Amino acid sequence: MQPKLIIHGGAGNSIESKGGKEPARQSLHAVVEAVYAMLLQGESSIDAVVKACQMLEDDPRFNAGTGSVLQSDGQIRMSASVMDGDRQSFSGVINASRLKNPITLAQTLQGSKDRVLSDYGSAELMRELAVPIFNPLTDERLAEWVEERKNNFQSNMASVSVGTIGAVALDRNGRICAGTSTGGRGFERIGRVSDSAMPAGNYASKIAGVSCTGVGEDIIDEGFATRVVVRVTDGMSLKDAVDKSFAEARSRDRDFAAICLDVTGEIAWGKTCEALFAAYHDGVAIGYTL
Ligand code: ASP
Repeated sequence: MQPKLIIHGGAGNSIESKGGKEPARQSLHAVVEAVYAMLLQGESSIDAVVKACQMLEDDPRFNAGTGSVLQSDGQIRMSASVMDGDRQSFSGVINASRLKNPITLAQTLQGSKDRVLSDYGSAELMRELAVPIFNPLTDERLAEWVEERKNNFQSNMASVSVGTIGAVALDRNGRICAGTSTGGRGFERIGRVSDSAMPAGNYASKIAGVSCTGVGEDIIDEGFATRVVVRVTDGMSLKDAVDKSFAEARSRDRDFAAICLDVTGEIAWGKTCEALFAAYHDGVAIGYTL
């Protein structure tokens, strides 16, 4: 089977601010190239998705892992999830802190009875696994937080032009996996839970997989990733499912985007916001959504 891959580095409404789209495109290109090669060599979709997410978490440009945005109290709390479509198994961490790759911790939980852990539980797991302590803070994100504090955190979302990251892959054996990782919406209250570690923001089955980015509350209200996957599983084409689900989201003034693929190898994406930073490999060439 021809492998397929689509990844994103967030969505937003301010494309030309903070460096514009070219640097983000180059980062996405490098990840698609490296991870598609893994898929061609026969690696599983879950390993490919986790690798793509790790690379994007390690890139300070994106709001996940290193370079995550700060919450209202000036702390970084990250959320990530992996869904293995073949086993229809979801795992994730919510508001984890002081680690380099939340997506790796989410993958580890695939083999656990308790598959979604919040802050305290994720810290205990890190201790058990001896995951090294890591500070993902960057000067740029700290400066943004100081600026936003002057306005008492009135922004709806951190005004970064690129953000949350995600990946959906189809491997040689026809298995789909979806992964998503985020520093959150930015400047949120302590304890706010992101869609990125919920089935609303990241979902996969044997038939389709979806990773979302944008205002988490809007994604949760639409139950978006699950909605698209269920529609495709029930027989709708991926394109129709994405178009219909985004038409509904638009009618309710939602603000987000999503990347999707299905078991036939079809790739799709959609958005209600201005820009989606995504790149894909359709088996022939690398393409971009902007
Ligand atoms: N969906 C993420 C959240 O609300 C933010 C993002 O995608 O940029 O936590």
